[in-house]
Formats: sequence, C-alpha cells, structure tokens
Amino acid sequence: MSKHEIALIPGDGIGPEVSHAAARVVEAAGVDVHWHELEAGAEVAVKYGTPLPDHVINEVRRLGIGLKGPLTTPIGGGFTSVNVQLRKALDLYAAVRPVRTMRGVQSRYDDVDLVVVRENTEGLYSGIEHLVQPGIAESIKIMTEGACTRISRYAFELAKREGRPKITAVHKANIMKISDGLFLECARKVAREYSEIEYEELIVDNTCMQLVLDPTRFSVLLMENLYGDILSDLCAGFVGGLGVVPGANIGDNAAVFEAVHGSAPDIAGKGFANPTAIILSACQMLDYLKENDAAKRIRDAVENVLVKGEIRTRDLGGSSSTNEYTRAIIDELTA
Ligand code: NAD
Repeated sequence: MSKHEIALIPGDGIGPEVSHAAARVVEAAGVDVHWHELEAGAEVAVKYGTPLPDHVINEVRRLGIGLKGPLTTPIGGGFTSVNVQLRKALDLYAAVRPVRTMRGVQSRYDDVDLVVVRENTEGLYSGIEHLVQPGIAESIKIMTEGACTRISRYAFELAKREGRPKITAVHKANIMKISDGLFLECARKVAREYSEIEYEELIVDNTCMQLVLDPTRFSVLLMENLYGDILSDLCAGFVGGLGVVPGANIGDNAAVFEAVHGSAPDIAGKGFANPTAIILSACQMLDYLKENDAAKRIRDAVENVLVKGEIRTRDLGGSSSTNEYTRAIIDELTA
C-alpha cells in the first residue's frame, strides 16, 4: 500500500490538464502516493443525475484528503455549485489562500506576503434564495456564532504558527449590522485570547482600496464567504494572477487542496493553462501531510523554472504549453 492515499478530482475545463500536471510533479518529487481518481462536474451529472455523486463525497471523506481541479458552475440556472456542496458536505470550513510575490513572475508589487482566510460554509453561499414574487428575489445570508468563532480561531492559530504579526477582520457591519456584527463580535472575542497578535477591523470596500494602494501592509485577512471569494481573486492579481495562487479547504476531518482559479472555459482544452497554482496547492497538501521536504523541493523547482524564464505559460508572458512547463519543473526536480 502506498504511504499516501489521496483523492484526485480532475474537474472540468482546464481542470484535468492542470491537476494531472500537479500529480506528475508530486510523483516526480518521490512522494509515495496512490491517487484515487474521482469524477465530478457537469458530465457526471448526465450519468448520475447529480454533479457530485454520494460515492465521491464518501470517498474523499474516507481518505480524508484530496487534490481537486476546478469545477464549472452554470450561471443562472442549472445545478448548484459542486465546490460549495463539497466544502459543506465535508465541513471544510477554512479556505486558506497564501498570496506571495514569486521570484521570476512579473507583478505590480514586491514583497507581498499575505494569507486570505475565508469562511467556507455559510454567509451568502448558504444557497437559500427564492423568488418572493416575479420581479422580487431574496438571498439569505446565514451567519452563526459557531462558524464565525471557529474561522476566527483558525486565522489566529495560523498567524501564531506562521509568526504572522497581524489579523485584519474584513466586514460590512456598517450596513449588515447584525450578521457582520456577529462576525466581528466573534472575531474580537477570539482576538482577546491572542494578545501577541495585532488585530484590526476594516470595512470591505476600504480594504479593497488599501490593498490596491499597498498590499504589503496586510498579513492575514480574515473574512466571511463572499468577501473572501472576491478578495482572493483581487489579491491573486498582485502577484501574477490566478495562474499562480494556490489554496486549501481545511476541516477538522478532511482537507481538499485546489487553486483559487476556476475552470477557465476560455482556454480549456488548448493546452496552455498555467498549472503553477494547483502545483503550489499540492505543495500545501504535502505540508499538511508532513512531506515538507518534497513540498520545498517542488516550490524551489517551480521558482527555478520561472527565474530562468525561458519556459513559461502565456498568462505569464511566455508561449510554452502546460506540458512543456510541467516537464521543465520535473527536469529541475530530478536533475
Ligand atoms: P476563472 O478563474 O476560470 O478564469 C478567470 C480568467 O483567468 C480567465 O481569463 C482564465 O483564462 C484565466 N485563468 C484562470 N486560471 C488560469 C490558469 N491556470 N492559467 C491561465 N489562465 C487562467 O474564472 P471564471 O471564468 O469566472 O469562472 C469559470 C468557471 O469556473 C465558472 O463556472 C465558475 O463557477 C468556476 N469556478 C470554479 C472554482 C473552483 O472550482 N474552485 C473557482 C472559481 C470559479
């Protein structure tokens, strides 16, 4: 039996291209892994009547760990988000997205090093919405003391573990006084237990402006679901875009690692998607599995390829394919 049994959900759009690239890189780093490949998404819905069949959830739950490509969610009608369903079903309550300036990647800012910690199970993503009557729609934002407290605690523990000096709780409690008010109340209560970590609160619109002016003033951004979704993409833009920013969905009993980006239908199947984001998500996964040496070697190999600059994907100004870039990382790893 392999040392690590890991669920691999390739996803749709560019998902299969980039997730298989990441799996190859993990193997090239010498990690003893057996991938359990699981299908989810639009095509699966045709076969099973649902884009996220129970056997997929059960297998990820049994293995406790997964690497996942992006999944498409139809806009307007169609099925509800498979990503949100999976996070809820496995109670993967913390989305953790490190955003760092990378050597060899051109970006507008130097020295960005922040982590977005996003509550992943409730808020406006609770999926409770209906048409009150034609012309009037209602979406309900659910905030609970339990979820707000545990995501706050997760953020403070992360800051403590990583030696991060400050937490910024991002909110809109000036307008959503009760729901975002509860979020802040919980964050403040947890903050009092961590006197060594600075705590500040910032309204989400002001946060966006402050981020664009100077993202280096932030270390950990703690927020509810919707703001976290939006600010994750905003922050990706500081360090080279969605092609390079990794992510993790962590719960108490399972963890699923995936890039911040979606299925990129505009470039799907063309063979030039950037797999860096999911490769770095796989590094987060390896750190979680205590395979820190392999994670470091992969990060170094990615950086070496990017610094050399001859082989890079189109989103980073190059012309190489996903395969050529992945091959270059594997060559670095095995040199
Ligand atoms: P997207 O992230 O798929 O793409 C946004 C832009 O970034 C596109 O121009 C795309 O080409 C580019 N891009 C994204 N990843 C890239 C990569 N690895 N390499 C090079 N370029 C990359 O966002 P979207 O177009 O708004 O969403 C498409 C679909 O993905 C939607 O159905 C959405 O619901 C879904 N989605 C899924 C996830 C997930 O599975 N976790 C996350 C976000 C969006």
